[in-house]
Amino acid sequence: MDQGDTFRPAGRYAPSPSGDLHLGNLRTAVLAWLFARTTGRSFFIRMEDLDRTAVGADRRQLADLTALGMDWDPPVVYQSTRLATYQSVIDGLRDRGCTFECFCTRREILEAPSAPHAPQGAYPGTCRDLTDAERAERRATGRPPAIRLRTDAELFSVSDLLHGSYAGVVDDFVIQRNDGTPAYNLAVVVDDAAQGVDQVVRGDDLLSSAPRQAYLASLLGHTPPTYAHVPMVLNPDHVRLSKRDGAVTIADLAEREVTAAQVLSHIAQSLWLADRGEVVDIAMLSERFRPDALPREPWILMADECE
Ligand code: GLU
Repeated sequence: MDQGDTFRPAGRYAPSPSGDLHLGNLRTAVLAWLFARTTGRSFFIRMEDLDRTAVGADRRQLADLTALGMDWDPPVVYQSTRLATYQSVIDGLRDRGCTFECFCTRREILEAPSAPHAPQGAYPGTCRDLTDAERAERRATGRPPAIRLRTDAELFSVSDLLHGSYAGVVDDFVIQRNDGTPAYNLAVVVDDAAQGVDQVVRGDDLLSSAPRQAYLASLLGHTPPTYAHVPMVLNPDHVRLSKRDGAVTIADLAEREVTAAQVLSHIAQSLWLADRGEVVDIAMLSERFRPDALPREPWILMADECE
């Protein structure tokens, strides 16, 4: 991922290839594309495939983005090809004394008394200061450790184009899971820095992760990106949209004779970038796009609204 002479700051869309993109994912992708392309940035797609993946989902996701008119700068990066890079960053942090081994189960963390003044849900610090003997005893149980970052901040602020300055909790978060997989919070920071990403547009369910990621970026000597955490799409019960909510993917909608162009129109309408039923293309949306004028509330998708 050497940027060479052609370095330009970049935005990105980073789907998890666990299935087809639904209208919520597609709407976030359109926004990420608009934010990047209307500010002269490169636009990258990164497949976050360290977790559960579905065969062929990556190709279908790319085809769906293309069907809505989005383009991107090659190559599409797959996190599963970058394990050695993540490992060397984890090793570097360990060598700097910035990590510790954590043997806690999820349940032990939930049941541990939290440290005084610690924010709710923060890691209680159980394994942070184990003695060598205590660590040896835990290792002897056979449970492999996760690796946590030894942080020295409780709060860290990020700058968000929609939320302003946002201060959130930074606890001793996991950077490598106990099965050896690099944690999302580590991989995302390493990749954004490697790709020159200085603008992160994604769903606002990830707003509370941004301070941890920005803290880690700073620790690694990178300037944290500017964020735009955009409102989600919710179902009529005001729950985050999922595949269970009916015809919500381009493939489902195609079966009901809704074209990709109509899907884009619907998304545009939900972003106040098109009138009802108006035919638009992505170039028209970039002419109309004004970050300040975006809706700040979630889009509540009514059943069969797109048909
Ligand atoms: N892979 C995450 C998702 O699909 C997005 C992560 C990110 O944009 O930082 O929700």
